[in-house]
Amino acid sequence: MEFIKTKVLKREEPLDTLSAAYMKLLREKDKTKKVYGIDPYAEVYQFRDNVYGILTESLDGMGAPWMYLIVGPEKAMLIDTSFGLGNLKGLVNEITGGMELVVVNTHATFDHSYGNHQFERVYCHEFCVPYLQKQLTPKLWDFLFDENGNGKWAEFDKRDMIQYKEYEMIGCPNGHIFNLGKDHDIELVFMPGHQAGHAAFLDKKNRILFGGDDFCSMRVGLGGPKEGLPYGEYATVTALARELEKLVKRTNEFDVIYPGHFMVELDNSVVQNLLEACQAVVANPNDYDYLHVLKGKTYKLKYIKEFGVLGYTDRSV
Ligand SMILES: [Zn+2]
Repeated sequence: MEFIKTKVLKREEPLDTLSAAYMKLLREKDKTKKVYGIDPYAEVYQFRDNVYGILTESLDGMGAPWMYLIVGPEKAMLIDTSFGLGNLKGLVNEITGGMELVVVNTHATFDHSYGNHQFERVYCHEFCVPYLQKQLTPKLWDFLFDENGNGKWAEFDKRDMIQYKEYEMIGCPNGHIFNLGKDHDIELVFMPGHQAGHAAFLDKKNRILFGGDDFCSMRVGLGGPKEGLPYGEYATVTALARELEKLVKRTNEFDVIYPGHFMVELDNSVVQNLLEACQAVVANPNDYDYLHVLKGKTYKLKYIKEFGVLGYTDRSV
């Protein structure tokens, strides 16, 4: 049994039973799971001949983030970059045999984009760019450590953190196509909600939607507009519902969803069920099922049929 090198010290909240059971059994029993010597902080799962899931521990007490690697005929695509602990670049090169790599972000939060600084160039939705720009400071990892320089939520070798480096950010419009060679196209699908410039990536060849944090089994969380950042009106249930209405009509293009956290291989019926929860909240924001306090902020939680919960605040409807 292999374990990744990060030791979690503290969690901000327990996982829901279903997600906890799914992740524990996947990590213990999945036959494709591999830990490479070049990056002992990542577990690699092979979900298709040419699709890998890369799981790292969370360094901030929240859920472990997924990254995905799609190996096309000529190029490979890495979706998200996690926290920036360990040699992700080397790991990806080892898996692909040094193929040309396209790096994309579903959105700009520590658990999905702080690893960007080891790459030359990262693509994202155009509204995501100012959020990534805000992270352009060598101090971005400071919040992970206490006054003695030890990890607050997780224990790891600090020397394995990547070095800060500026990189090129390329904002793309909704519908932008990335070609990985031959007919292997990946489409950027604007899917705001969890964050204003949040995007999903549709792998038409494998019929998979990589959905980011808008489709997580534990909770789909919408925190609302962020102080000093633009496009706040898109970090809302209303904006998510608007794009889900379009996505529902495209569920003939993909069978499953691979999200930013927790249970993978979600049936595409999640799109309709999430849309219904969003529509109910937009119609009546007080039509929630229960309240939940996380890091001092009170969220309203609405059940999503056969899936989980939608978390929102008064500002994020
Ligand atoms: Zn996340």
